[in-house]
Amino acid sequence: MLVVAMAPLSTFVSSPARHPCSDSYHRRRRGAVSASSSSSSTKAEEVVIVGAGIAGLATALSLRRLGVSATVLEQGPSLRAGGTSLTLFKNGWRVLDSIGVADELRAKYLRVQGMRMRSSAGGRDLREFSFEEEAPGQEVRAVERGALLATMASKLPPGAISFSSRLKSIAGQGPDGTLLELQDGRRLLSKVVLGCDGVNSPIARWMGFSEPRYVGHMAFRGLADYAGGQPFESKVNYIYGRGVRAGFVPVSPTKVYWFICFNSATPGPKATDGAALKREALGLVRGWPEDLVAVMRSTPDDAVVKTPLVDRWLWPGLAPPASRGGVVLVGDAWHPMTPNLGQGACCALEDAVVLARHLAPAVLAGSDVGEALRGYESERWGRVFPLTARAGLVGALVQWGNPVVCAARDGVVIPRLVRLGPFLEHTNFECGLLDPAAPST
Ligand SMILES: Cc1cc2nc3c(=O)[nH]c(=O)nc-3n(C[C@H](O)[C@H](O)[C@H](O)COP(=O)(O)OP(=O)(O)OC[C@H]3O[C@@H](n4cnc5c(N)ncnc54)[C@H](O)[C@@H]3O)c2cc1C
Repeated sequence: MLVVAMAPLSTFVSSPARHPCSDSYHRRRRGAVSASSSSSSTKAEEVVIVGAGIAGLATALSLRRLGVSATVLEQGPSLRAGGTSLTLFKNGWRVLDSIGVADELRAKYLRVQGMRMRSSAGGRDLREFSFEEEAPGQEVRAVERGALLATMASKLPPGAISFSSRLKSIAGQGPDGTLLELQDGRRLLSKVVLGCDGVNSPIARWMGFSEPRYVGHMAFRGLADYAGGQPFESKVNYIYGRGVRAGFVPVSPTKVYWFICFNSATPGPKATDGAALKREALGLVRGWPEDLVAVMRSTPDDAVVKTPLVDRWLWPGLAPPASRGGVVLVGDAWHPMTPNLGQGACCALEDAVVLARHLAPAVLAGSDVGEALRGYESERWGRVFPLTARAGLVGALVQWGNPVVCAARDGVVIPRLVRLGPFLEHTNFECGLLDPAAPST
Protein backbone atom coordinates (compact mmCIF):
# COMPACT_ATOMS: atom_id res chain seq x y z
CA MET A 1 0.00 0.00 0.00
CA LEU A 2 1.21 3.47 -0.83
CA VAL A 3 1.51 5.76 2.14
CA VAL A 4 0.23 9.22 1.38
CA ALA A 5 1.07 12.29 3.37
CA MET A 6 -2.04 14.40 3.92
CA ALA A 7 -0.51 17.81 3.34
CA PRO A 8 -2.46 20.80 1.97
CA LEU A 9 -2.84 20.43 -1.77
CA SER A 10 -1.25 23.78 -2.43
CA THR A 11 2.06 22.28 -1.34
CA PHE A 12 1.84 19.71 -4.15
CA VAL A 13 0.59 21.80 -7.00
CA SER A 14 3.62 22.70 -8.98
CA SER A 15 3.99 21.00 -12.27
CA PRO A 16 6.89 20.39 -14.60
CA ALA A 17 6.99 21.50 -18.18
CA ARG A 18 3.94 21.23 -20.38
CA HIS A 19 3.39 17.74 -21.79
CA PRO A 20 2.69 17.17 -25.50
CA CYS A 21 -0.61 15.53 -24.59
CA SER A 22 -1.73 18.42 -22.48
CA ASP A 23 -3.48 20.13 -25.38
CA SER A 24 -5.80 17.17 -25.49
CA TYR A 25 -7.18 17.90 -22.08
CA HIS A 26 -10.53 19.58 -22.00
CA ARG A 27 -9.73 23.09 -20.91
CA ARG A 28 -12.05 24.71 -18.45
CA ARG A 29 -15.16 22.71 -17.75
CA ARG A 30 -18.32 23.77 -16.09
CA GLY A 31 -17.49 23.92 -12.38
CA ALA A 32 -13.93 22.64 -12.79
CA VAL A 33 -11.98 22.75 -9.55
CA SER A 34 -9.41 25.46 -9.39
CA ALA A 35 -5.81 24.57 -8.70
CA SER A 36 -4.64 26.46 -5.65
CA SER A 37 -1.39 27.38 -7.28
CA SER A 38 0.03 30.11 -9.42
CA SER A 39 1.58 27.53 -11.78
CA SER A 40 -0.19 27.90 -15.13
CA SER A 41 0.79 24.38 -16.23
CA THR A 42 -1.07 22.67 -13.39
CA LYS A 43 -4.20 20.99 -14.68
CA ALA A 44 -7.39 21.11 -12.70
CA GLU A 45 -10.25 18.85 -13.70
CA GLU A 46 -13.69 18.19 -12.30
CA VAL A 47 -13.78 14.47 -13.12
CA VAL A 48 -10.78 12.34 -14.07
CA ILE A 49 -11.12 8.71 -15.11
CA VAL A 50 -7.95 6.65 -14.81
CA GLY A 51 -7.90 3.90 -17.46
CA ALA A 52 -9.40 3.78 -20.95
CA GLY A 53 -10.52 0.15 -20.67
CA ILE A 54 -14.08 -1.12 -20.63
CA ALA A 55 -14.98 0.42 -17.28
CA GLY A 56 -13.30 3.76 -18.03
CA LEU A 57 -14.82 4.31 -21.46
CA ALA A 58 -18.28 3.09 -20.45
CA THR A 59 -18.21 5.40 -17.43
CA ALA A 60 -17.09 8.36 -19.55
CA LEU A 61 -19.95 7.69 -21.99
CA SER A 62 -22.52 7.19 -19.22
CA LEU A 63 -21.53 10.43 -17.49
CA ARG A 64 -21.60 12.28 -20.78
CA ARG A 65 -25.16 11.09 -21.42
CA LEU A 66 -26.07 12.73 -18.11
CA GLY A 67 -24.33 16.01 -18.91
CA VAL A 68 -20.95 15.50 -17.22
CA SER A 69 -17.64 15.58 -19.11
CA ALA A 70 -14.59 13.71 -17.90
CA THR A 71 -10.95 13.46 -18.85
CA VAL A 72 -9.72 9.90 -19.35
CA LEU A 73 -6.07 9.14 -18.59
CA GLU A 74 -4.69 6.05 -20.31
CA GLN A 75 -1.19 4.72 -19.70
CA GLY A 76 -0.86 3.20 -23.18
CA PRO A 77 0.00 5.22 -26.29
CA SER A 78 -3.33 4.11 -27.79
CA LEU A 79 -6.34 1.97 -26.92
CA ARG A 80 -5.54 -1.67 -26.19
CA ALA A 81 -5.75 -3.43 -29.55
CA GLY A 82 -5.04 -7.06 -28.59
CA GLY A 83 -6.79 -9.01 -25.92
CA THR A 84 -8.67 -11.46 -28.19
CA SER A 85 -12.37 -11.37 -27.46
CA LEU A 86 -14.95 -11.23 -24.67
CA THR A 87 -18.28 -13.00 -24.49
CA LEU A 88 -20.98 -10.54 -23.52
CA PHE A 89 -24.36 -11.64 -22.22
CA LYS A 90 -27.77 -9.98 -22.10
CA ASN A 91 -26.90 -7.75 -19.14
CA GLY A 92 -23.82 -6.40 -20.93
CA TRP A 93 -25.76 -5.74 -24.14
CA ARG A 94 -28.43 -3.88 -22.22
CA VAL A 95 -25.79 -1.45 -20.95
CA LEU A 96 -24.20 -1.11 -24.39
CA ASP A 97 -27.67 -0.23 -25.72
CA SER A 98 -28.07 2.38 -23.04
CA ILE A 99 -24.76 4.08 -23.89
CA GLY A 100 -25.47 4.01 -27.62
CA VAL A 101 -22.89 1.54 -28.99
CA ALA A 102 -24.69 -1.82 -29.11
CA ASP A 103 -26.11 -1.75 -32.62
CA GLU A 104 -22.78 -0.86 -34.20
CA LEU A 105 -21.27 -3.92 -32.53
CA ARG A 106 -24.24 -6.18 -33.27
CA ALA A 107 -23.72 -5.46 -36.96
CA LYS A 108 -20.21 -6.98 -36.78
CA TYR A 109 -20.50 -9.82 -34.29
CA LEU A 110 -22.53 -13.01 -34.55
CA ARG A 111 -25.34 -13.86 -32.19
CA VAL A 112 -24.45 -17.16 -30.53
CA GLN A 113 -27.38 -19.56 -30.76
CA GLY A 114 -26.45 -22.31 -28.36
CA MET A 115 -23.90 -24.41 -26.57
CA ARG A 116 -22.37 -27.83 -27.23
CA MET A 117 -20.57 -29.69 -24.45
CA ARG A 118 -18.18 -32.55 -25.12
CA SER A 119 -15.74 -34.72 -23.24
CA SER A 120 -12.07 -34.55 -24.22
CA ALA A 121 -12.01 -38.35 -24.28
CA GLY A 122 -12.89 -39.19 -27.87
CA GLY A 123 -14.84 -35.93 -28.21
CA ARG A 124 -17.99 -37.66 -26.90
CA ASP A 125 -21.05 -35.37 -26.95
CA LEU A 126 -22.38 -34.71 -23.45
CA ARG A 127 -25.13 -32.19 -24.04
CA GLU A 128 -26.36 -29.54 -26.44
CA PHE A 129 -28.44 -26.45 -25.60
CA SER A 130 -30.28 -23.81 -27.55
CA PHE A 131 -30.28 -20.41 -25.82
CA GLU A 132 -33.70 -19.58 -27.22
CA GLU A 133 -35.22 -22.76 -25.79
CA GLU A 134 -33.44 -22.77 -22.44
CA ALA A 135 -33.12 -19.06 -21.75
CA PRO A 136 -35.50 -17.12 -24.00
CA GLY A 137 -34.37 -13.55 -24.70
CA GLN A 138 -30.75 -14.30 -23.89
CA GLU A 139 -28.30 -12.41 -26.12
CA VAL A 140 -24.80 -13.84 -26.35
CA ARG A 141 -22.10 -12.48 -28.65
CA ALA A 142 -18.33 -12.61 -28.45
CA VAL A 143 -16.80 -9.28 -29.45
CA GLU A 144 -13.21 -8.33 -30.11
CA ARG A 145 -11.98 -6.29 -27.16
CA GLY A 146 -10.20 -3.80 -29.42
CA ALA A 147 -13.38 -3.14 -31.40
CA LEU A 148 -15.45 -2.73 -28.24
CA LEU A 149 -13.00 -0.13 -26.93
CA ALA A 150 -12.71 1.66 -30.28
CA THR A 151 -16.49 1.86 -30.68
CA MET A 152 -16.94 3.35 -27.22
CA ALA A 153 -14.04 5.77 -27.69
CA SER A 154 -15.45 6.96 -31.02
CA LYS A 155 -18.49 8.34 -29.18
CA LEU A 156 -16.37 10.59 -26.97
CA PRO A 157 -15.27 14.01 -28.16
CA PRO A 158 -11.82 14.23 -29.77
CA GLY A 159 -9.15 14.63 -27.13
CA ALA A 160 -11.27 13.24 -24.28
CA ILE A 161 -8.68 10.49 -23.80
CA SER A 162 -5.18 11.52 -22.87
CA PHE A 163 -2.86 8.71 -23.96
CA SER A 164 0.63 8.02 -22.58
CA SER A 165 -0.65 9.32 -19.25
CA ARG A 166 0.25 6.73 -16.64
CA LEU A 167 -0.85 7.42 -13.10
CA LYS A 168 2.09 6.95 -10.77
CA SER A 169 0.51 7.76 -7.46
CA ILE A 170 -2.07 9.72 -5.58
CA ALA A 171 -0.05 12.46 -3.98
CA GLY A 172 -2.67 13.66 -1.57
CA GLN A 173 -6.24 14.63 -0.87
CA GLY A 174 -7.56 17.90 0.46
CA PRO A 175 -10.57 20.20 0.31
CA ASP A 176 -9.90 21.06 -3.34
CA GLY A 177 -9.79 17.45 -4.48
CA THR A 178 -7.25 14.72 -5.13
CA LEU A 179 -3.82 15.33 -6.52
CA LEU A 180 -2.66 12.79 -9.09
CA GLU A 181 0.96 12.36 -10.03
CA LEU A 182 1.70 10.93 -13.46
CA GLN A 183 4.73 8.87 -14.42
CA ASP A 184 6.17 11.70 -16.54
CA GLY A 185 5.99 14.17 -13.67
CA ARG A 186 2.76 15.94 -14.56
CA ARG A 187 0.34 16.63 -11.74
CA LEU A 188 -3.37 16.92 -11.94
CA LEU A 189 -5.84 18.11 -9.35
CA SER A 190 -9.31 16.63 -9.61
CA LYS A 191 -12.47 16.84 -7.57
CA VAL A 192 -13.53 13.32 -8.53
CA VAL A 193 -11.20 10.47 -9.53
CA LEU A 194 -12.67 7.27 -10.96
CA GLY A 195 -10.23 4.37 -10.67
CA CYS A 196 -10.91 2.28 -13.77
CA ASP A 197 -7.31 1.10 -13.89
CA GLY A 198 -7.92 -2.63 -14.03
CA VAL A 199 -6.80 -5.65 -12.10
CA ASN A 200 -3.43 -4.23 -11.02
CA SER A 201 -4.93 -0.90 -10.02
CA PRO A 202 -2.50 1.43 -8.24
CA ILE A 203 -5.55 3.28 -6.93
CA ALA A 204 -6.92 0.13 -5.26
CA ARG A 205 -3.51 -0.38 -3.65
CA TRP A 206 -3.56 3.20 -2.37
CA MET A 207 -7.02 2.54 -0.91
CA GLY A 208 -5.70 -0.45 1.04
CA PHE A 209 -7.08 -3.33 -1.07
CA SER A 210 -5.15 -6.58 -1.07
CA GLU A 211 -3.51 -7.75 -4.28
CA PRO A 212 -5.81 -9.96 -6.38
CA ARG A 213 -5.51 -13.66 -5.42
CA TYR A 214 -4.20 -16.18 -7.95
CA VAL A 215 -6.79 -18.99 -7.98
CA GLY A 216 -4.54 -21.79 -9.25
CA HIS A 217 -5.63 -21.79 -12.90
CA MET A 218 -4.12 -20.21 -15.99
CA ALA A 219 -5.86 -19.36 -19.24
CA PHE A 220 -4.66 -19.43 -22.82
CA ARG A 221 -6.73 -17.37 -25.22
CA GLY A 222 -6.48 -16.89 -28.94
CA LEU A 223 -8.32 -15.41 -31.88
CA ALA A 224 -8.22 -17.55 -35.02
CA ASP A 225 -8.32 -15.80 -38.35
CA TYR A 226 -10.26 -17.30 -41.28
CA ALA A 227 -9.86 -14.71 -44.03
CA GLY A 228 -11.93 -16.86 -46.40
CA GLY A 229 -14.75 -17.33 -43.87
CA GLN A 230 -14.94 -19.54 -40.78
CA PRO A 231 -16.89 -22.82 -41.08
CA PHE A 232 -18.53 -23.16 -37.66
CA GLU A 233 -22.10 -23.10 -36.42
CA SER A 234 -22.77 -20.20 -34.09
CA LYS A 235 -22.42 -22.17 -30.86
CA VAL A 236 -20.17 -22.03 -27.84
CA ASN A 237 -18.19 -25.29 -27.83
CA TYR A 238 -16.96 -26.54 -24.46
CA ILE A 239 -14.68 -29.54 -24.10
CA TYR A 240 -13.95 -30.95 -20.66
CA GLY A 241 -10.86 -32.90 -19.69
CA ARG A 242 -9.24 -33.65 -16.32
CA GLY A 243 -7.95 -30.41 -14.81
CA VAL A 244 -8.04 -28.88 -18.29
CA ARG A 245 -10.99 -27.49 -20.20
CA ALA A 246 -11.14 -25.71 -23.51
CA GLY A 247 -13.64 -24.04 -25.75
CA PHE A 248 -14.18 -22.05 -28.89
CA VAL A 249 -16.88 -19.78 -30.23
CA PRO A 250 -17.36 -18.06 -33.58
CA VAL A 251 -17.03 -14.31 -33.14
CA SER A 252 -17.63 -12.95 -36.63
CA PRO A 253 -17.72 -14.32 -40.18
CA THR A 254 -13.89 -14.46 -40.13
CA LYS A 255 -12.84 -14.82 -36.48
CA VAL A 256 -13.11 -17.62 -33.94
CA TYR A 257 -12.17 -17.19 -30.28
CA TRP A 258 -10.74 -20.08 -28.26
CA PHE A 259 -9.54 -20.62 -24.72
CA ILE A 260 -7.95 -23.27 -22.52
CA CYS A 261 -8.01 -23.21 -18.71
CA PHE A 262 -5.56 -25.45 -16.90
CA ASN A 263 -4.37 -26.03 -13.35
CA SER A 264 -0.97 -24.69 -12.38
CA ALA A 265 0.38 -24.33 -8.84
CA THR A 266 2.01 -20.99 -9.69
CA PRO A 267 1.52 -18.54 -12.56
CA GLY A 268 5.18 -18.98 -13.56
CA PRO A 269 7.13 -16.33 -15.48
CA LYS A 270 5.29 -13.95 -17.80
CA ALA A 271 5.60 -15.24 -21.37
CA THR A 272 4.97 -13.22 -24.52
CA ASP A 273 6.49 -15.34 -27.33
CA GLY A 274 3.31 -16.13 -29.26
CA ALA A 275 4.73 -19.12 -31.15
CA ALA A 276 5.94 -20.72 -27.90
CA LEU A 277 2.60 -20.01 -26.21
CA LYS A 278 0.73 -21.64 -29.05
CA ARG A 279 2.95 -24.72 -28.90
CA GLU A 280 2.41 -24.97 -25.14
CA ALA A 281 -1.36 -24.59 -25.58
CA LEU A 282 -1.50 -27.24 -28.32
CA GLY A 283 0.46 -29.57 -26.04
CA LEU A 284 -2.32 -29.34 -23.44
CA VAL A 285 -4.98 -30.61 -25.85
CA ARG A 286 -3.10 -33.29 -27.72
CA GLY A 287 -5.62 -35.92 -28.89
CA TRP A 288 -8.61 -33.62 -28.21
CA PRO A 289 -11.31 -33.01 -30.87
CA GLU A 290 -9.83 -32.01 -34.20
CA ASP A 291 -12.05 -28.93 -34.67
CA LEU A 292 -10.57 -27.32 -31.54
CA VAL A 293 -7.03 -28.09 -32.66
CA ALA A 294 -7.77 -26.72 -36.14
CA VAL A 295 -9.04 -23.44 -34.66
CA MET A 296 -5.88 -23.13 -32.58
CA ARG A 297 -3.68 -23.83 -35.60
CA SER A 298 -5.51 -21.10 -37.56
CA THR A 299 -4.47 -18.51 -34.99
CA PRO A 300 -1.68 -16.02 -35.75
CA ASP A 301 1.09 -16.31 -33.16
CA ASP A 302 0.61 -12.74 -32.03
CA ALA A 303 -3.05 -13.44 -31.23
CA VAL A 304 -2.28 -15.91 -28.41
CA VAL A 305 -2.04 -14.80 -24.77
CA LYS A 306 -1.57 -16.56 -21.45
CA THR A 307 -3.06 -15.06 -18.29
CA PRO A 308 -3.15 -16.08 -14.63
CA LEU A 309 -6.72 -16.11 -13.31
CA VAL A 310 -7.22 -13.98 -10.23
CA ASP A 311 -10.04 -12.61 -8.11
CA ARG A 312 -10.69 -10.61 -4.97
CA TRP A 313 -13.62 -11.38 -2.71
CA LEU A 314 -15.06 -8.25 -1.11
CA TRP A 315 -15.80 -9.76 2.30
CA PRO A 316 -18.02 -7.45 4.36
CA GLY A 317 -16.06 -5.84 7.18
CA LEU A 318 -12.73 -6.93 5.69
CA ALA A 319 -12.51 -5.27 2.28
CA PRO A 320 -11.94 -1.50 2.40
CA PRO A 321 -14.73 0.77 1.12
CA ALA A 322 -14.80 1.29 -2.65
CA SER A 323 -14.40 5.04 -2.22
CA ARG A 324 -12.17 7.36 -0.25
CA GLY A 325 -12.96 11.05 -0.42
CA GLY A 326 -13.64 11.80 -4.06
CA VAL A 327 -11.87 8.65 -5.32
CA VAL A 328 -13.82 5.51 -6.24
CA LEU A 329 -13.07 2.17 -7.90
CA VAL A 330 -14.91 0.73 -10.91
CA GLY A 331 -14.69 -2.63 -12.75
CA ASP A 332 -11.71 -4.94 -12.24
CA ALA A 333 -9.93 -2.33 -10.13
CA TRP A 334 -12.56 -3.00 -7.45
CA HIS A 335 -13.79 -6.53 -8.04
CA PRO A 336 -11.57 -8.68 -10.26
CA MET A 337 -13.36 -11.99 -10.85
CA THR A 338 -12.46 -15.18 -12.68
CA PRO A 339 -13.99 -15.48 -16.17
CA ASN A 340 -15.99 -18.65 -15.40
CA LEU A 341 -19.34 -16.85 -15.73
CA GLY A 342 -18.19 -14.41 -18.42
CA GLN A 343 -19.22 -11.52 -16.21
CA GLY A 344 -16.13 -9.37 -15.51
CA ALA A 345 -16.65 -6.97 -18.40
CA CYS A 346 -20.44 -7.20 -18.13
CA CYS A 347 -20.20 -6.09 -14.49
CA ALA A 348 -17.77 -3.29 -15.38
CA LEU A 349 -20.42 -2.05 -17.83
CA GLU A 350 -23.12 -2.25 -15.15
CA ASP A 351 -20.88 -0.38 -12.69
CA ALA A 352 -20.46 2.42 -15.23
CA VAL A 353 -24.15 3.26 -15.56
CA VAL A 354 -24.89 2.87 -11.87
CA LEU A 355 -21.98 5.12 -10.93
CA ALA A 356 -23.03 7.75 -13.48
CA ARG A 357 -26.59 7.77 -12.13
CA HIS A 358 -25.34 8.41 -8.60
CA LEU A 359 -22.52 10.78 -9.45
CA ALA A 360 -23.85 13.05 -12.21
CA PRO A 361 -26.47 14.89 -10.10
CA ALA A 362 -23.91 15.63 -7.38
CA VAL A 363 -21.34 16.91 -9.88
CA LEU A 364 -23.90 19.06 -11.69
CA ALA A 365 -25.18 20.47 -8.40
CA GLY A 366 -21.61 21.15 -7.24
CA SER A 367 -22.35 19.27 -4.03
CA ASP A 368 -20.20 16.85 -2.04
CA VAL A 369 -19.77 13.67 -4.05
CA GLY A 370 -18.95 11.40 -1.07
CA GLU A 371 -22.57 10.38 -0.53
CA ALA A 372 -23.05 9.65 -4.24
CA LEU A 373 -20.00 7.40 -4.28
CA ARG A 374 -21.17 5.54 -1.20
CA GLY A 375 -24.59 5.09 -2.83
CA TYR A 376 -22.90 3.55 -5.86
CA GLU A 377 -20.92 1.18 -3.67
CA SER A 378 -23.89 0.01 -1.66
CA GLU A 379 -25.93 -0.57 -4.81
CA ARG A 380 -23.16 -2.53 -6.52
CA TRP A 381 -21.63 -4.53 -3.68
CA GLY A 382 -24.62 -6.89 -3.42
CA ARG A 383 -24.25 -7.63 -7.10
CA VAL A 384 -20.51 -8.00 -7.54
CA PHE A 385 -19.52 -9.84 -4.36
CA PRO A 386 -21.81 -12.87 -4.88
CA LEU A 387 -20.91 -13.03 -8.57
CA THR A 388 -17.17 -12.97 -7.80
CA ALA A 389 -17.65 -15.77 -5.28
CA ARG A 390 -19.83 -17.81 -7.61
CA ALA A 391 -17.40 -17.43 -10.52
CA GLY A 392 -14.60 -18.62 -8.24
CA LEU A 393 -16.57 -21.63 -7.01
CA VAL A 394 -17.64 -22.66 -10.51
CA GLY A 395 -13.99 -22.47 -11.61
CA ALA A 396 -12.86 -24.61 -8.70
CA LEU A 397 -15.49 -27.25 -9.57
CA VAL A 398 -14.88 -27.44 -13.28
CA GLN A 399 -11.10 -27.54 -12.88
CA TRP A 400 -11.17 -30.66 -10.69
CA GLY A 401 -8.88 -33.32 -12.11
CA ASN A 402 -10.03 -36.18 -9.89
CA PRO A 403 -11.02 -39.06 -12.22
CA VAL A 404 -14.08 -40.04 -10.17
CA VAL A 405 -15.36 -36.47 -10.09
CA CYS A 406 -14.71 -36.06 -13.82
CA ALA A 407 -16.54 -39.31 -14.56
CA ALA A 408 -19.55 -38.11 -12.52
CA ARG A 409 -19.45 -34.76 -14.33
CA ASP A 410 -19.38 -36.39 -17.77
CA GLY A 411 -21.77 -39.21 -16.93
CA VAL A 412 -24.42 -37.54 -14.78
CA VAL A 413 -24.02 -33.85 -14.02
CA ILE A 414 -23.70 -32.41 -17.53
CA PRO A 415 -25.97 -34.89 -19.37
CA ARG A 416 -28.79 -34.90 -16.79
CA LEU A 417 -28.56 -32.14 -14.20
CA VAL A 418 -27.30 -28.93 -15.79
CA ARG A 419 -30.04 -26.43 -16.70
CA LEU A 420 -28.99 -23.41 -18.68
CA GLY A 421 -31.84 -21.06 -17.70
CA PRO A 422 -31.12 -21.09 -13.93
CA PHE A 423 -27.37 -21.08 -14.59
CA LEU A 424 -27.72 -17.82 -16.56
CA GLU A 425 -30.19 -16.21 -14.16
CA HIS A 426 -27.53 -13.61 -13.19
CA THR A 427 -27.70 -12.18 -16.72
CA ASN A 428 -31.32 -11.08 -16.12
CA PHE A 429 -30.06 -8.52 -13.60
CA GLU A 430 -31.55 -5.05 -14.08
CA CYS A 431 -28.95 -2.46 -13.14
CA GLY A 432 -31.28 0.45 -13.92
CA LEU A 433 -30.23 2.16 -17.10
CA LEU A 434 -29.66 5.77 -18.02
CA ASP A 435 -32.64 7.92 -18.78
CA PRO A 436 -32.53 8.08 -22.59
CA ALA A 437 -34.07 11.52 -22.46
CA ALA A 438 -31.21 12.83 -20.32
CA PRO A 439 -29.34 15.71 -21.91
CA SER A 440 -25.93 15.00 -23.35
CA THR A 441 -23.18 17.58 -23.39
C1 LIG B 1 -9.04 -15.10 -19.47
C2 LIG B 1 -10.09 -14.05 -19.30
C3 LIG B 1 -11.28 -14.14 -20.01
C4 LIG B 1 -12.29 -13.20 -19.82
N1 LIG B 1 -13.45 -13.35 -20.51
C5 LIG B 1 -14.49 -12.52 -20.24
C6 LIG B 1 -15.72 -12.68 -20.90
O1 LIG B 1 -15.87 -13.57 -21.75
N2 LIG B 1 -16.75 -11.83 -20.61
C7 LIG B 1 -16.61 -10.84 -19.67
O2 LIG B 1 -17.58 -10.11 -19.41
N3 LIG B 1 -15.43 -10.64 -19.05
C8 LIG B 1 -14.37 -11.45 -19.31
N4 LIG B 1 -13.17 -11.25 -18.69
C9 LIG B 1 -13.03 -10.14 -17.73
C10 LIG B 1 -12.74 -8.81 -18.43
O3 LIG B 1 -11.58 -8.93 -19.24
C11 LIG B 1 -12.51 -7.73 -17.37
O4 LIG B 1 -13.49 -7.81 -16.38
C12 LIG B 1 -12.57 -6.35 -18.01
O5 LIG B 1 -11.51 -6.17 -18.90
C13 LIG B 1 -12.49 -5.27 -16.93
O6 LIG B 1 -12.45 -4.01 -17.53
P1 LIG B 1 -11.73 -2.81 -16.78
O7 LIG B 1 -11.97 -1.61 -17.62
O8 LIG B 1 -12.13 -2.78 -15.36
O9 LIG B 1 -10.17 -3.17 -16.79
P2 LIG B 1 -9.21 -3.25 -18.05
O10 LIG B 1 -9.93 -3.74 -19.23
O11 LIG B 1 -8.01 -4.00 -17.59
O12 LIG B 1 -8.79 -1.74 -18.33
C14 LIG B 1 -7.93 -1.04 -17.46
C15 LIG B 1 -7.31 0.12 -18.24
O13 LIG B 1 -6.58 0.94 -17.32
C16 LIG B 1 -5.32 1.25 -17.89
N5 LIG B 1 -4.40 1.50 -16.77
C17 LIG B 1 -3.95 0.60 -15.87
N6 LIG B 1 -3.11 1.19 -14.99
C18 LIG B 1 -3.05 2.50 -15.35
C19 LIG B 1 -2.35 3.62 -14.82
N7 LIG B 1 -1.55 3.51 -13.76
N8 LIG B 1 -2.53 4.83 -15.42
C20 LIG B 1 -3.34 4.97 -16.51
N9 LIG B 1 -4.02 3.92 -17.07
C21 LIG B 1 -3.87 2.72 -16.48
C22 LIG B 1 -4.96 0.01 -18.71
O14 LIG B 1 -3.97 0.29 -19.68
C23 LIG B 1 -6.32 -0.34 -19.31
O15 LIG B 1 -6.56 0.36 -20.51
C24 LIG B 1 -12.12 -12.14 -18.89
C25 LIG B 1 -10.92 -12.03 -18.19
C26 LIG B 1 -9.90 -12.97 -18.39
C27 LIG B 1 -8.64 -12.83 -17.60
